[in-house]
Amino acid sequence: MRLNNKTVLVTGAASGIGYAITQLFAEQGATVFASDVKAPAQPYADGIQALDLDVASEAAWKAAVDTVVAKTGRLDVLVNNAGIIAYEPLHELGIEAWNRMIAIDQTGVFLGMREAVRVMRPRRSGSIINISSIWGSAAVAGAHSYHAAKGAVRNMSKNAAITYVGDGIRVNSVHPGFIATPLTDAQAPDLNEATVGATPMKRAGQPIEIAYGALYLASDESSYVTGTELVIDGGYLAQ
Ligand code: NAD
Repeated sequence: MRLNNKTVLVTGAASGIGYAITQLFAEQGATVFASDVKAPAQPYADGIQALDLDVASEAAWKAAVDTVVAKTGRLDVLVNNAGIIAYEPLHELGIEAWNRMIAIDQTGVFLGMREAVRVMRPRRSGSIINISSIWGSAAVAGAHSYHAAKGAVRNMSKNAAITYVGDGIRVNSVHPGFIATPLTDAQAPDLNEATVGATPMKRAGQPIEIAYGALYLASDESSYVTGTELVIDGGYLAQ
């Protein structure tokens, strides 16, 4: 029970990595709020409370965090996991597609961190976990807007870590490699094969392998860890 007495809010919880995080955190004793813009394909575990939260909406963020605090009196851990991916190269990227990516994958993290800090600072305690990507640190051709957003999340995490270190709030980013989820299942098979082929372990990661990393960052075991990048990628970035 590594998360006893902790209240956790996870975004993008209905699917893939976010779903695995909610299940594992609940097993570890946390009070879990699972938020998304859709319902999960399979029910959440008993005790997990579902919330509607479009991470691109400022008003929705305030309402969600207020609900969590009204129900439990606290927010100990925020996992900014919700995200979309797109593969347009720079020269084919329209302004609407760009704005949509930035709204969800970057502004969503900004709004979430701001709301979390609002309620964590008075308690002088909290852990914020932002899901970036290997493509927040290294490049693949195309996917310009995704790189922009995930790179920003990496650096926003470090800025918030330094800004709020005196408030007892830790902020870290997680950088998954290729993980088998509905997001990657929907991609072209040749693209997926190429990414797995470029991964030293020569296999896709599983959502639970990211969830275990998030568990460490959420728990008090990581009490001396802030501003770090936890890379979980089968060796991809070591090359
Ligand atoms: P997924 O598509 O399975 O799950 C993402 C969830 O985010 C979905 O349930 C979706 O409904 C939700 N979502 C989308 N837009 C939203 C919005 N505006 N507000 C709230 N929720 C919204 O994807 P996943 O693979 O589990 O990805 C989770 C995170 O991990 C994403 O941030 C993704 O960029 C990141 N990531 C994934 C991989 C991978 O290989 N799967 C690799 C690196 C990083």
